[in-house]
Amino acid sequence: MAIIIDGKALAAEIRAEIKTRVAGYTNRAGKKIGLAVVLVGENSASQVYVRNKIKACEEVGVKSYAFYLPSDVPQSELNGLIAELANDDKINGILVQLPLPEHLDSEQALKLIPTDKDVDGFSPENVGKLCMGKNCSVACTPYGVMKMLEKYGIETKGKKAVVVGRSDIVGKPMAMLLLNADATVTICHSKTKNLGSECVAADIIVAAVGKPKFITADMIKEGAVVIDVGMNRDESGKLCGDVDFETVKDKCSYITPVPGGVGPMTITMLLYNTLIAAERNLH
Ligand code: NAP
Repeated sequence: MAIIIDGKALAAEIRAEIKTRVAGYTNRAGKKIGLAVVLVGENSASQVYVRNKIKACEEVGVKSYAFYLPSDVPQSELNGLIAELANDDKINGILVQLPLPEHLDSEQALKLIPTDKDVDGFSPENVGKLCMGKNCSVACTPYGVMKMLEKYGIETKGKKAVVVGRSDIVGKPMAMLLLNADATVTICHSKTKNLGSECVAADIIVAAVGKPKFITADMIKEGAVVIDVGMNRDESGKLCGDVDFETVKDKCSYITPVPGGVGPMTITMLLYNTLIAAERNLH
Protein backbone atom coordinates (compact mmCIF):
# COMPACT_ATOMS: atom_id res chain seq x y z
CA MET A 1 0.00 0.00 0.00
CA ALA A 2 1.37 3.39 -1.03
CA ILE A 3 2.17 6.33 1.21
CA ILE A 4 -0.72 8.75 0.96
CA ILE A 5 0.50 12.28 0.31
CA ASP A 6 -1.43 14.45 2.73
CA GLY A 7 -2.10 17.69 0.87
CA LYS A 8 -4.36 19.00 3.59
CA ALA A 9 -1.70 18.72 6.30
CA LEU A 10 1.03 20.14 4.07
CA ALA A 11 -1.22 23.03 3.03
CA ALA A 12 -1.93 23.82 6.71
CA GLU A 13 1.80 23.79 7.46
CA ILE A 14 2.64 26.15 4.59
CA ARG A 15 -0.31 28.43 5.41
CA ALA A 16 0.96 28.80 8.98
CA GLU A 17 4.35 29.94 7.62
CA ILE A 18 2.60 32.31 5.21
CA LYS A 19 0.54 33.77 8.05
CA THR A 20 3.70 34.60 10.02
CA ARG A 21 5.34 36.23 7.02
CA VAL A 22 2.15 38.17 6.18
CA ALA A 23 2.12 39.55 9.74
CA GLY A 24 5.79 40.56 9.34
CA TYR A 25 4.98 42.33 6.07
CA THR A 26 2.00 44.13 7.61
CA ASN A 27 4.18 45.39 10.46
CA ARG A 28 6.98 46.59 8.23
CA ALA A 29 4.81 48.07 5.47
CA GLY A 30 2.16 49.52 7.79
CA LYS A 31 -0.53 48.14 5.50
CA LYS A 32 -2.10 44.84 4.60
CA ILE A 33 -1.27 42.76 1.58
CA GLY A 34 -4.14 43.13 -0.91
CA LEU A 35 -5.46 40.55 -3.37
CA ALA A 36 -8.10 41.57 -5.92
CA VAL A 37 -10.41 38.77 -7.04
CA VAL A 38 -12.54 39.39 -10.10
CA LEU A 39 -15.51 37.13 -10.80
CA VAL A 40 -17.70 37.59 -13.86
CA GLY A 41 -21.12 35.95 -13.97
CA GLU A 42 -22.76 33.20 -11.93
CA ASN A 43 -20.81 30.02 -12.70
CA SER A 44 -21.46 28.03 -9.53
CA ALA A 45 -18.06 26.24 -9.46
CA SER A 46 -16.32 29.61 -9.89
CA GLN A 47 -18.41 31.09 -7.08
CA VAL A 48 -17.24 28.29 -4.76
CA TYR A 49 -13.58 28.74 -5.78
CA VAL A 50 -13.78 32.51 -5.22
CA ARG A 51 -15.44 32.07 -1.83
CA ASN A 52 -12.71 29.64 -0.77
CA LYS A 53 -9.97 31.98 -1.95
CA ILE A 54 -11.45 34.91 -0.02
CA LYS A 55 -11.76 32.76 3.12
CA ALA A 56 -8.15 31.56 2.78
CA CYS A 57 -6.98 35.19 2.47
CA GLU A 58 -8.77 36.11 5.69
CA GLU A 59 -7.19 33.18 7.53
CA VAL A 60 -3.64 34.33 6.77
CA GLY A 61 -4.27 38.08 7.15
CA VAL A 62 -4.35 39.06 3.47
CA LYS A 63 -7.06 41.59 2.60
CA SER A 64 -9.17 40.50 -0.33
CA TYR A 65 -11.03 42.88 -2.60
CA ALA A 66 -13.79 41.04 -4.44
CA PHE A 67 -15.32 42.42 -7.62
CA TYR A 68 -18.46 40.71 -8.89
CA LEU A 69 -19.37 41.70 -12.43
CA PRO A 70 -22.59 40.69 -14.21
CA SER A 71 -22.32 37.93 -16.85
CA ASP A 72 -23.10 40.42 -19.66
CA VAL A 73 -20.42 42.93 -18.64
CA PRO A 74 -18.79 44.49 -21.71
CA GLN A 75 -15.10 43.75 -22.34
CA SER A 76 -14.28 47.46 -21.99
CA GLU A 77 -15.65 47.51 -18.44
CA LEU A 78 -13.70 44.41 -17.39
CA ASN A 79 -10.54 45.80 -18.98
CA GLY A 80 -11.13 49.15 -17.25
CA LEU A 81 -11.40 47.48 -13.85
CA ILE A 82 -8.20 45.48 -14.35
CA ALA A 83 -6.35 48.58 -15.54
CA GLU A 84 -7.51 50.41 -12.40
CA LEU A 85 -6.37 47.56 -10.12
CA ALA A 86 -3.05 47.45 -11.94
CA ASN A 87 -2.38 51.01 -10.77
CA ASP A 88 -3.75 50.63 -7.27
CA ASP A 89 -1.04 50.53 -4.57
CA LYS A 90 -3.33 48.66 -2.16
CA ILE A 91 -3.43 45.73 -4.57
CA ASN A 92 -0.44 43.37 -4.66
CA GLY A 93 -2.06 40.61 -6.69
CA ILE A 94 -4.87 40.39 -9.25
CA LEU A 95 -6.78 37.23 -9.99
CA VAL A 96 -9.42 36.93 -12.69
CA GLN A 97 -11.44 33.78 -12.09
CA LEU A 98 -11.60 31.64 -15.23
CA PRO A 99 -13.44 30.66 -17.32
CA LEU A 100 -14.93 33.98 -18.37
CA PRO A 101 -18.31 34.06 -20.18
CA GLU A 102 -17.96 33.32 -23.91
CA HIS A 103 -18.36 36.89 -25.17
CA LEU A 104 -15.24 37.98 -23.25
CA ASP A 105 -11.68 37.60 -24.47
CA SER A 106 -9.72 36.32 -21.48
CA GLU A 107 -6.37 36.80 -23.18
CA GLN A 108 -7.11 40.50 -23.65
CA ALA A 109 -8.13 40.87 -20.00
CA LEU A 110 -5.23 38.85 -18.56
CA LYS A 111 -2.74 40.86 -20.61
CA LEU A 112 -3.67 43.94 -18.57
CA ILE A 113 -2.46 42.36 -15.33
CA PRO A 114 1.08 43.61 -14.67
CA THR A 115 3.58 40.73 -14.45
CA ASP A 116 4.42 41.56 -10.85
CA LYS A 117 0.72 41.31 -9.84
CA ASP A 118 0.09 38.13 -11.84
CA VAL A 119 -0.32 35.79 -8.86
CA ASP A 120 -1.81 33.02 -11.05
CA GLY A 121 1.33 32.88 -13.18
CA PHE A 122 -0.70 32.99 -16.42
CA SER A 123 0.87 36.04 -18.09
CA PRO A 124 2.98 35.42 -21.20
CA GLU A 125 5.99 36.91 -19.43
CA ASN A 126 5.71 34.59 -16.43
CA VAL A 127 5.07 31.58 -18.69
CA GLY A 128 8.11 32.56 -20.77
CA LYS A 129 10.27 32.89 -17.68
CA LEU A 130 9.10 29.49 -16.45
CA CYS A 131 10.15 27.95 -19.78
CA MET A 132 13.55 29.62 -19.43
CA GLY A 133 13.93 28.29 -15.88
CA LYS A 134 13.93 31.81 -14.43
CA ASN A 135 12.45 33.02 -11.17
CA CYS A 136 8.77 33.89 -11.75
CA SER A 137 5.21 33.58 -10.51
CA VAL A 138 4.22 29.95 -11.18
CA ALA A 139 0.72 28.58 -11.83
CA CYS A 140 -0.63 27.54 -8.43
CA THR A 141 -1.71 23.93 -9.02
CA PRO A 142 1.53 22.62 -10.56
CA TYR A 143 3.52 24.70 -8.08
CA GLY A 144 1.63 22.95 -5.28
CA VAL A 145 2.49 19.57 -6.80
CA MET A 146 6.20 20.45 -6.78
CA LYS A 147 5.95 21.43 -3.10
CA MET A 148 4.41 18.04 -2.35
CA LEU A 149 7.21 16.17 -4.13
CA GLU A 150 9.77 18.28 -2.27
CA LYS A 151 8.13 17.76 1.12
CA TYR A 152 7.97 13.98 0.70
CA GLY A 153 11.59 13.83 -0.48
CA ILE A 154 10.60 12.47 -3.88
CA GLU A 155 13.55 12.68 -6.27
CA THR A 156 12.79 14.10 -9.73
CA LYS A 157 16.33 14.27 -11.12
CA GLY A 158 16.80 11.74 -13.90
CA LYS A 159 13.33 10.28 -13.34
CA LYS A 160 10.88 9.66 -16.12
CA ALA A 161 7.83 11.86 -15.56
CA VAL A 162 4.63 11.60 -17.58
CA VAL A 163 2.08 14.41 -17.46
CA VAL A 164 -1.33 13.46 -18.84
CA GLY A 165 -3.03 16.69 -19.95
CA ARG A 166 -1.61 19.77 -21.69
CA SER A 167 -3.76 22.65 -20.47
CA ASP A 168 -2.15 26.06 -20.01
CA ILE A 169 -3.07 26.10 -16.32
CA VAL A 170 -2.00 22.61 -15.27
CA GLY A 171 -0.40 20.24 -17.81
CA LYS A 172 2.06 22.55 -19.57
CA PRO A 173 3.43 24.40 -16.51
CA MET A 174 3.57 21.06 -14.66
CA ALA A 175 5.72 19.55 -17.40
CA MET A 176 7.96 22.62 -17.42
CA LEU A 177 8.48 22.52 -13.64
CA LEU A 178 9.38 18.83 -13.77
CA LEU A 179 11.78 19.50 -16.64
CA ASN A 180 13.37 22.35 -14.68
CA ALA A 181 13.74 19.86 -11.81
CA ASP A 182 15.77 17.57 -14.11
CA ALA A 183 13.11 14.97 -14.86
CA THR A 184 12.78 13.52 -18.36
CA VAL A 185 9.29 14.60 -19.27
CA THR A 186 6.63 13.27 -21.63
CA ILE A 187 3.37 15.18 -22.13
CA CYS A 188 0.35 13.12 -23.17
CA HIS A 189 -3.01 14.37 -24.47
CA SER A 190 -6.12 13.22 -26.26
CA LYS A 191 -4.24 12.51 -29.50
CA THR A 192 -1.49 10.45 -27.83
CA LYS A 193 -1.17 6.97 -29.26
CA ASN A 194 -0.68 4.09 -26.78
CA LEU A 195 -1.33 6.18 -23.69
CA GLY A 196 -1.08 3.08 -21.51
CA SER A 197 2.48 2.27 -22.59
CA GLU A 198 3.57 5.90 -22.08
CA CYS A 199 2.11 5.91 -18.56
CA VAL A 200 3.43 2.53 -17.51
CA ALA A 201 6.99 3.72 -18.20
CA ALA A 202 6.64 6.63 -15.74
CA ASP A 203 8.45 6.89 -12.41
CA ILE A 204 6.26 9.92 -11.68
CA ILE A 205 2.84 10.32 -13.28
CA VAL A 206 0.70 13.44 -13.03
CA ALA A 207 -2.90 13.09 -14.14
CA ALA A 208 -4.64 16.30 -15.23
CA VAL A 209 -7.29 15.04 -17.62
CA GLY A 210 -10.66 15.81 -16.04
CA LYS A 211 -12.07 12.28 -16.43
CA PRO A 212 -13.13 10.27 -13.38
CA LYS A 213 -10.90 7.26 -12.60
CA PHE A 214 -9.31 7.47 -16.05
CA ILE A 215 -5.86 6.23 -14.96
CA THR A 216 -6.15 2.58 -13.98
CA ALA A 217 -3.74 0.18 -12.24
CA ASP A 218 -2.62 -1.43 -15.51
CA MET A 219 -1.26 1.99 -16.62
CA ILE A 220 0.97 2.30 -13.55
CA LYS A 221 4.48 0.95 -13.04
CA GLU A 222 5.06 -0.90 -9.77
CA GLY A 223 6.41 1.66 -7.27
CA ALA A 224 5.59 4.78 -9.31
CA VAL A 225 4.64 8.12 -7.73
CA VAL A 226 1.07 9.05 -8.67
CA ILE A 227 -0.18 12.63 -8.49
CA ASP A 228 -3.87 13.13 -9.17
CA VAL A 229 -4.85 16.68 -10.13
CA GLY A 230 -8.34 15.74 -11.33
CA MET A 231 -11.46 17.00 -9.59
CA ASN A 232 -14.48 15.20 -10.93
CA ARG A 233 -17.79 13.74 -9.80
CA ASP A 234 -18.29 9.99 -10.13
CA GLU A 235 -21.57 8.34 -11.15
CA SER A 236 -22.97 8.80 -7.62
CA GLY A 237 -21.98 12.47 -7.49
CA LYS A 238 -19.03 11.89 -5.17
CA LEU A 239 -15.85 13.93 -5.65
CA CYS A 240 -13.12 11.84 -7.29
CA GLY A 241 -9.88 12.27 -9.17
CA ASP A 242 -8.56 11.18 -12.56
CA VAL A 243 -6.93 8.14 -10.96
CA ASP A 244 -8.71 4.96 -9.91
CA PHE A 245 -7.40 5.38 -6.36
CA GLU A 246 -8.63 2.08 -4.90
CA THR A 247 -6.75 -0.15 -7.34
CA VAL A 248 -3.75 2.10 -8.02
CA LYS A 249 -2.86 2.64 -4.35
CA ASP A 250 -1.75 -0.99 -3.99
CA LYS A 251 0.70 -0.73 -6.86
CA CYS A 252 2.42 2.63 -6.46
CA SER A 253 4.81 4.02 -3.83
CA TYR A 254 3.12 7.41 -3.24
CA ILE A 255 -0.32 8.68 -4.21
CA THR A 256 -2.38 11.83 -3.67
CA PRO A 257 -6.01 11.32 -2.62
CA VAL A 258 -9.01 13.28 -3.92
CA PRO A 259 -10.17 15.17 -1.94
CA GLY A 260 -7.30 16.12 0.38
CA GLY A 261 -4.43 15.94 -2.10
CA VAL A 262 -3.57 18.54 -4.72
CA GLY A 263 -6.72 20.62 -4.13
CA PRO A 264 -5.74 22.24 -0.80
CA MET A 265 -2.29 23.05 -2.19
CA THR A 266 -3.65 25.19 -5.04
CA ILE A 267 -5.09 27.99 -2.90
CA THR A 268 -2.08 27.76 -0.60
CA MET A 269 0.24 28.53 -3.49
CA LEU A 270 -2.01 31.43 -4.52
CA LEU A 271 -1.49 32.89 -1.03
CA TYR A 272 2.23 32.22 -1.34
CA ASN A 273 2.45 33.94 -4.75
CA THR A 274 0.55 36.92 -3.33
CA LEU A 275 2.93 37.14 -0.36
CA ILE A 276 5.97 37.00 -2.66
CA ALA A 277 4.47 39.69 -4.94
CA ALA A 278 4.05 41.98 -1.91
CA GLU A 279 7.46 41.25 -0.38
CA ARG A 280 9.15 41.91 -3.72
CA ASN A 281 7.93 45.52 -3.64
CA LEU A 282 8.78 46.20 0.01
CA HIS A 283 11.90 48.28 0.29
P1 NAP B 1 -8.54 20.74 -19.46
O1 NAP B 1 -8.17 22.12 -19.82
O2 NAP B 1 -9.87 20.19 -19.84
O3 NAP B 1 -7.41 19.75 -20.07
C1 NAP B 1 -7.55 18.38 -20.04
C2 NAP B 1 -6.41 17.74 -20.78
O4 NAP B 1 -6.61 16.33 -20.77
C3 NAP B 1 -6.28 18.17 -22.23
O5 NAP B 1 -4.95 18.48 -22.54
C4 NAP B 1 -6.77 16.95 -23.00
O6 NAP B 1 -6.10 16.75 -24.22
C5 NAP B 1 -6.40 15.84 -22.07
N1 NAP B 1 -7.21 14.65 -22.34
C6 NAP B 1 -8.56 14.60 -22.47
N2 NAP B 1 -8.94 13.35 -22.77
C7 NAP B 1 -7.83 12.60 -22.85
C8 NAP B 1 -7.57 11.25 -23.15
N3 NAP B 1 -8.55 10.41 -23.47
N4 NAP B 1 -6.28 10.83 -23.15
C9 NAP B 1 -5.28 11.67 -22.84
N5 NAP B 1 -5.46 12.98 -22.56
C10 NAP B 1 -6.72 13.44 -22.56
O7 NAP B 1 -8.43 20.50 -17.90
P2 NAP B 1 -7.49 21.21 -16.77
O8 NAP B 1 -7.97 22.57 -16.54
O9 NAP B 1 -6.06 20.97 -17.08
O10 NAP B 1 -7.92 20.31 -15.53
C11 NAP B 1 -7.70 18.91 -15.49
C12 NAP B 1 -8.36 18.34 -14.24
O11 NAP B 1 -7.76 18.93 -13.11
C13 NAP B 1 -9.85 18.65 -14.09
O12 NAP B 1 -10.47 17.57 -13.42
C14 NAP B 1 -9.89 19.88 -13.20
O13 NAP B 1 -11.09 19.99 -12.46
C15 NAP B 1 -8.73 19.57 -12.29
N6 NAP B 1 -8.10 20.74 -11.68
C16 NAP B 1 -7.86 20.64 -10.35
C17 NAP B 1 -7.23 21.68 -9.70
C18 NAP B 1 -6.94 21.54 -8.26
O14 NAP B 1 -6.69 22.52 -7.59
N7 NAP B 1 -6.92 20.32 -7.74
C19 NAP B 1 -6.85 22.84 -10.40
C20 NAP B 1 -7.09 22.90 -11.77
C21 NAP B 1 -7.72 21.83 -12.40
P3 NAP B 1 -6.28 17.76 -25.51
O15 NAP B 1 -5.42 18.94 -25.17
O16 NAP B 1 -5.77 16.96 -26.66
O17 NAP B 1 -7.73 18.09 -25.58
